[in-house]
Amino acid sequence: MDIVCSTEEQALFERISSIAQGMQVHCYLVGGFVRDKILGRDTKDADIVCTGDGIALAQAVAASYPNRPQVNFFKTFGTAQFKLNGFDVEFVGARKESYSSDSRKPEVSEGTIEDDQRRRDFTINAMAISLNKENYGRLIDPFNGMEDLRNKILRTPLDPDITFSDDPLRMMRGIRFATQLGFVLEPETFEAISRNKERIKIVSQERVTDELNKIMVTPKPSVGFDLLYKSRLLHEFFPQMTELAGVEIIEGKGHKDNFYHTLQVLDNVAQRSDNLWLRWAAVLHDIAKPATKKFEEGHGWTFHGHEALGEKMTPRIFRQLKLPQNENMKFVAKLVGLHLRPIGLTKEDITDSAMRRLLFDAGADLEALMILCESDVTSKNKFKVKRYLENFELVKERLKVVEEKDRIRNWQPPIDGAEIMKIFGLAPSREVGILKTAVREAILDGIIPNDYAAAYGYVLQKAAEMDIKPVKQ
Ligand code: ATP
Ligand code: MG
Repeated sequence: MDIVCSTEEQALFERISSIAQGMQVHCYLVGGFVRDKILGRDTKDADIVCTGDGIALAQAVAASYPNRPQVNFFKTFGTAQFKLNGFDVEFVGARKESYSSDSRKPEVSEGTIEDDQRRRDFTINAMAISLNKENYGRLIDPFNGMEDLRNKILRTPLDPDITFSDDPLRMMRGIRFATQLGFVLEPETFEAISRNKERIKIVSQERVTDELNKIMVTPKPSVGFDLLYKSRLLHEFFPQMTELAGVEIIEGKGHKDNFYHTLQVLDNVAQRSDNLWLRWAAVLHDIAKPATKKFEEGHGWTFHGHEALGEKMTPRIFRQLKLPQNENMKFVAKLVGLHLRPIGLTKEDITDSAMRRLLFDAGADLEALMILCESDVTSKNKFKVKRYLENFELVKERLKVVEEKDRIRNWQPPIDGAEIMKIFGLAPSREVGILKTAVREAILDGIIPNDYAAAYGYVLQKAAEMDIKPVKQ
């Protein structure tokens, strides 16, 4: 074999080979498996292409095992798949495709292995290994994928305008592979992405976002976002992020380029955490800067309220990108909203109640918030960076001390909304909210102690000020 496989993989491929021979079809290993084996990356699945009926071959191979793994198949696509000890084996009949300009749905007909290789996205993904008796294990590489692999180059097998126009998702895949593998998009291929960027609109947002998330979880996601920006593909599906780019200068004063700042913050977070959603918080933390930007005479550029507006924009952006509307979205919105708070705590003379307030607001997400804040320090001045990070260390230490003393992070005030409604006979209303907040704030501020009796006395007094009387029990 031209690639090195485990004993189990070898046994599987030899079995496929002899069954295919019996059925008088040719078959090949192809695509990501071949690429990853040559690169020495981990593989959890293998794609097999055969001339003729891929589903029939899959069924015959599965049936040859005593435990007969279940075969899942899609008749319309001619694909079939089964799992063997956690290893995914996929089968497809070699195809020849032609596309029309208004849809992604190709006309598919039976083809040869060469036809099948031509319809693949990149030369490094278009290499095949023969599983046929006459040349078992030999690499079939009509587009010189091996050389591109060696030179770390991403290039389409056909004219890139045709490859990308036929299936525009390939543009996202190209940028994803560049980021994931540390490869370079060959210039003509890259230019074709710029030319065909508008075609991305015919691909479902779920699939685009799937690729975006694969970029997000790489060690250096900025590489992908930079390529998305420079090809202007990003402008097609996430214009809000592109609006962060650029520097405006008034009276000789400029602000930083918030797009590249955001990418730096994203990479900084990626170095500190694998959490995809924390990485999304990095992407969105300054998203409202363009909308809140002002030049204040004699003072300079300000972005007042960008954290609150950014928090509000987060659900909309998640919807637009077809990201989930669940607790992950809430986590991102919360961090965007809080991302300036720890900076406020680095000043002198900060009271315990300010610390308690952040402990209460951040709750379980305090560590994530501190990672975001530390990552947000992107000055070129090393001494400044060092000083800011040291200040955050001091804040973290004080937060720890206050938390140990007051246990705020999982704390609930001793009187909640339901209790307030009962005491005063109120229906859910604005008044209930006001009283509830008053109790919580009084405790966080240290005005009253954290116990029921004190809270009860305090809420009676507050209610009296609002002309609300308790009902007789
Ligand atoms: P990964 O598994 O890391 O996502 P991969 O290259 O294996 O990378 P798959 O989606 O598993 O990607 O697809 C397997 C193979 O199928 C690819 O290597 C490529 O040859 C081909 N392929 C997948 N998607 C496309 C596409 N949109 N256009 C053309 N060929 C594709
Ligand atoms: Mg794969």
